[in-house]
Amino acid sequence: MLKETVDFIRSIYKTPKDFIPLHEPRFVGNEKPYLNECIDSTFVSSVGKFVNQFEDDLKKYTGAKYAIATSNGTAALHIALVLAKVQRNDLVITQPLTFVATCNAIAYLGADPLFVDVDKRTLGMSPSKLHDFLHTSTYINDKQECIHIATQRRISACVPMHTFGFPVEMDSIMEICDVFHVAVVEDAAESIGSFYKEQHTGTFGLLGTLSFNGNKTITCGGGGAVLTNDDALGVLAKHLTTQAKTPHPWEFNHDHIGYNYRMPNINAALACAQLECLDSFIENKRQLAQLYANFFDCMPYTFLTEPKNSKANYWLQAILVGDRTERDAFLDFTNKNAVMTRPAWTLMHKLPMFEHCITANVENAQFLEDRLVNIPSSVRVN
Ligand SMILES: *Cc1c(COP(=O)(O)O)cnc(C)c1O
Repeated sequence: MLKETVDFIRSIYKTPKDFIPLHEPRFVGNEKPYLNECIDSTFVSSVGKFVNQFEDDLKKYTGAKYAIATSNGTAALHIALVLAKVQRNDLVITQPLTFVATCNAIAYLGADPLFVDVDKRTLGMSPSKLHDFLHTSTYINDKQECIHIATQRRISACVPMHTFGFPVEMDSIMEICDVFHVAVVEDAAESIGSFYKEQHTGTFGLLGTLSFNGNKTITCGGGGAVLTNDDALGVLAKHLTTQAKTPHPWEFNHDHIGYNYRMPNINAALACAQLECLDSFIENKRQLAQLYANFFDCMPYTFLTEPKNSKANYWLQAILVGDRTERDAFLDFTNKNAVMTRPAWTLMHKLPMFEHCITANVENAQFLEDRLVNIPSSVRVN
């Protein structure tokens, strides 16, 4: 079975012996002409036409009223949490199955993540587990804040993450968080091009964030974005990510502690070209998912398909194997045979920085950590 799997993956990537990476970028569009144009213009840094154009293109693509391009996805999350008014000593609900940047951004503000379980189908935050936790462990105080009973700490925000591009059930998450007065910031770093009920991920919450790191569906080297439909937050996001400078022909005045988080124009040149290719990349990845689904149908592994009511970008494709021993055997065999595969992230509440954090029952996340394997998912070119 292991050998059949390796042979199958080699056959779909048409390389009989070379190393097959998990996810490599594809530069098959206007990347080089845009980069040349950017260099010729001398505007390679925080000002220039590509970074403005990229923001406009992102707004069109996602339907968000505001899109603010940032230097990376972690910076976008940091700013989004600042805008959601997360403060020192607050608790911020997120999921244990995520990339560490989600929790790091929470920690940058002196807040602590609080872990609520994921759903086995969506791989993202479970609305029912979230509801159970808020219902049994919190109350609303007279300032309309959600307070964690056992610690008397404020729960200011909730950060669901669209794992591997599979959308979280955002309508339920929004409904629950509204009732409990908790702001929602969606970590949509992995889900550009993924839609839930025909609405782009990252546009349901008060704010959402994207990443264009080298391993994501589209990349500009390093980059990210903040999405919001809120006028005040949209304007403030741009202001805070550009050193909070007040406009003036020659004076340098700043009215907030700002951040040097703007996406450089040279990265945006690449980003504009990649965004033009996004729909064809997703079409390609969805065809790959179909091939995998057919192949794994006759194997003792479960290929994960998009949850209901959603259209996924299939960023990193994944299977579930029987147990942790089987998982390790699968990882060992495939990687030894130059087909790159990887397990899910070690759950966040097990990392030394976050092991003190409040963790609800996270049995589904543990189930997935023990069984999930990501398999090669790059856009196929030949
Ligand atoms: C990639 C990623 C980030 C961080 O994005 P960078 O651009 O690498 O800073 C944040 N959250 C999740 C879930 C990610 O996968």
